[in-house]
Amino acid sequence: AKLTSPNGLRFYDPAVQAELEARTSLEHDLRLAIERQEFVLVYQSQVDSLGRTIGAEALIRWEHPRNGFVSPGTFIPLAEETGLIVPIGNWVLEAACEQLVAWANDEHTKHLTLAVNVSAIQFQQPDFVDTVCAMLTKSGASAHRLKLELTESTMIGKVDNIIARMHQLKALGVSFSLDDFGTGYSSLQYLKRLPLDQIKIDQSFVCKLHRDTDDKAIVQTIIAMGHSLGLQVIAEGVENLEHWRYLNEHQCHAYQGYYFCKPVSATEMVLRSLAPPRM
Ligand code: C2E
Ligand code: CA
Ligand code: CA
Ligand code: CA
Repeated sequence: AKLTSPNGLRFYDPAVQAELEARTSLEHDLRLAIERQEFVLVYQSQVDSLGRTIGAEALIRWEHPRNGFVSPGTFIPLAEETGLIVPIGNWVLEAACEQLVAWANDEHTKHLTLAVNVSAIQFQQPDFVDTVCAMLTKSGASAHRLKLELTESTMIGKVDNIIARMHQLKALGVSFSLDDFGTGYSSLQYLKRLPLDQIKIDQSFVCKLHRDTDDKAIVQTIIAMGHSLGLQVIAEGVENLEHWRYLNEHQCHAYQGYYFCKPVSATEMVLRSLAPPRM
């Protein structure tokens, strides 16, 4: 990168230059990743209060041909900045629907629901409802098993349009979870207006439950609020027995985290759902 110093001289910063080049190259590879079939979905089970698997969250993984595994924490933000999140998100939806069909065809897995992360930009595409509808039809997946995880960033802009869109999808049978609940600055406002089915307590409150009394109070309050608003409450980032006990005592409905299962392949996910509950 050429930067201009106060005295008008141009200088060259190799570190900035290297970072820019790395980013451009990653963006280039990201464009090709779908057709090269470098994405896969992994699944993290969600369990009920008895530790039985009731569903899963689909999480994307990118196996880069040279750099190996690239974390979604790195490439999802880049995909969002470049608009590539739309085709990538559509790929995720399609793969998720196919997985639901595979589960539906097996007695042991047909009850499982699948939660899919949807970026704000993807949800705000004018044809998003049509796309979801087309994918459900094409795959034959049941909309009642599909849950879309939205974050507060989806609500930036015309909230009325977003709500109308949510209602259209709910009419198909799709349900909604508000992800990372409690981390935004206006979560409570949205609770009242959005046609949600579930809120997902952010892992930042859950992971310190065993040593932070403030987090205990927050989690307890979120669960109680979910109950009184008729919303299902799921906790993410459940990492140990103490977390699980505390949440269970306060009647959280569903749980997800390393304590039960890390994200695994589709094949392993089936085996997990057959295993006895983790208590
Ligand atoms: P998220 O939706 O909040 O997903 C939860 C993240 O926490 C996942 O990271 C998961 O692997 C991790 N996790 C699960 N259990 C535990 C636990 O017990 N403790 C801790 N510390 N972490 C746990 P992952 O898979 O790296 O995904 C990171 C983020 O990338 C996701 O956060 C989500 O925002 C985004 N993402 C992942 N897949 C997709 C996708 O298909 N589409 C979109 N738009 N975003 C995605
Ligand atoms: Ca999520
Ligand atoms: Ca989350
Ligand atoms: Ca999170």
